[in-house]
Amino acid sequence: MTALDIAHGDITTIAVDAIVNAANSSLLGGGGVDGAIHRAGGPEILAACRELRATSLPDGLEPGRAVATTAGRLPARWVIHTVGPVWSAHEDRSGILRSAYHNSLLVAHDLGARTVSFPLVSAGVYGWPLDDAALQAVTTIRETQTGVETVVLVGFDNAAVDALRRAVSRAG
Ligand code: ADP
Repeated sequence: MTALDIAHGDITTIAVDAIVNAANSSLLGGGGVDGAIHRAGGPEILAACRELRATSLPDGLEPGRAVATTAGRLPARWVIHTVGPVWSAHEDRSGILRSAYHNSLLVAHDLGARTVSFPLVSAGVYGWPLDDAALQAVTTIRETQTGVETVVLVGFDNAAVDALRRAVSRAG
């Protein structure tokens, strides 16, 4: 079974094989964790994203899907870009959020990554309520069996770390 750890702070400083990015469909950079990853990793990551847009992903990356690039200067070897859904009070989009975690882990498995860190996908600009974002993350990671040995879920601030701890105790 995949071990689940919780960490506090900036995901770009965590030494893991693969860091997951909460990207947007364009793959061409954005704010939040996406901006932090591109800043810390340097221009190689954006160049790799542009290459993907010019070849296999001309229309960008659909929400729920995941794709890997180099991690540039980051301590990690790969960045796995995924796109979460924008929160909606009128429509249940949790299946898309779960797919983002599930598919990121499948990509990590295919790469041979043993350790993977995730931010709380969709819980920033995309507006997903923190407690549910954490619960979807924890339960999907628990349900997805791959060769990934350890997943580190990173809370950027105290509120996110608390939500992650609550989710772990609720998920059992
Ligand atoms: P989304 O558009 O999917 O909501 P955001 O990047 O806006 O993505 O936010 C996702 C989560 O990542 C939020 O909980 C935000 O606080 C957190 N976050 C922002 N910067 C970092 C960082 N450097 N390391 C870890 N988490 C971060």
